[in-house]
Amino acid sequence: TSSGLLDTVKNRITRKSPTFVQAVDGVNMQLWENQVQGVIGESGCGKTTLLRTLIGLYKPTNGQLLFHGDPVSEFTKEEWKEFRRHVQIVFQDPFNSLDPKFSVRRTVAEPLEIHGIAYDIGQIKEMLESVGLTPAEKYLGRFPNQLSGGEKQRVAIARGLITKPDVILADEPASMLDVSTQAEILNLLNKLTDEFGVSMVYISHDLSTVSYICDKINVMYLGRVVEEAPTKQLLTEPKHPYTQALIQSIPIPDPHYERERAAVGGEPGDPINMPAGCRFKNRCPERMDVCDQTPMDVALSDDTNRTVACHLYYDHSTEKTEQAQ
Ligand code: SF4
Repeated sequence: TSSGLLDTVKNRITRKSPTFVQAVDGVNMQLWENQVQGVIGESGCGKTTLLRTLIGLYKPTNGQLLFHGDPVSEFTKEEWKEFRRHVQIVFQDPFNSLDPKFSVRRTVAEPLEIHGIAYDIGQIKEMLESVGLTPAEKYLGRFPNQLSGGEKQRVAIARGLITKPDVILADEPASMLDVSTQAEILNLLNKLTDEFGVSMVYISHDLSTVSYICDKINVMYLGRVVEEAPTKQLLTEPKHPYTQALIQSIPIPDPHYERERAAVGGEPGDPINMPAGCRFKNRCPERMDVCDQTPMDVALSDDTNRTVACHLYYDHSTEKTEQAQ
């Protein structure tokens, strides 16, 4: 009956309480000039939340986001606008990130208009040529439905770079493209970060692409950075058991190479009911009793400026371990 249905709906409404997910926790990241920093992790590990926090869309409940040393949360309206001019984002999906009603010319010029920056058509053309859309005249009047996936992503990159930002946040920008176009976009980003002297945070679930383009990599697991290292060291000497498992799972296209390929075993933990202590402990082959306590970041003394959050690297004999938080 309608009253029965109403009661059911009321019960559901009254029983439902908000669920809070701590999607990113205790992340400490520094991005230097001209550096390409990778963030790698499985789906749901908090990469996208981190990205939205970095662009100021989410306010951290703890800690803060600093831009050139100044806290973004204290910016005036004008400073915020300036911050958004200098931190641009390239989204994963070039098929939905462009306005279908905007021509290429209008799409690329839009950020300049938003920020009140004077421009001429020569600048737009020059930017299109820089991202490989040549001759630029051919593309200026086109609309997204007249472009391939790779061309759309090039337009999105041109739009991101036109304000001469300090930082580009790239959210898996090649993942929705076919393999050969992926390689073109990665090479283009590599070239442009050098050419424009821009820093980039590149997030992806794909370690091969991250290691191809990044100087340094943060490995995230269930909301925390478990290892941070320069790319070469991370690939050749991974320290955290999760990083080791990720590297073991990369396919090697050589039939003579006999390394046993392994997937990361088990299921990722539930972000709503985070396991106490180390969040990787239910999947970790090295698990010990002490892993029921939360591991702190350990700076390794190997001159590579790397950190790892794992009890294997603590000196427990001197009781440096932090108790569970
Ligand atoms: Fe494995 Fe323990 Fe290290 Fe976690 S802290 S990764 S469970 S050894």
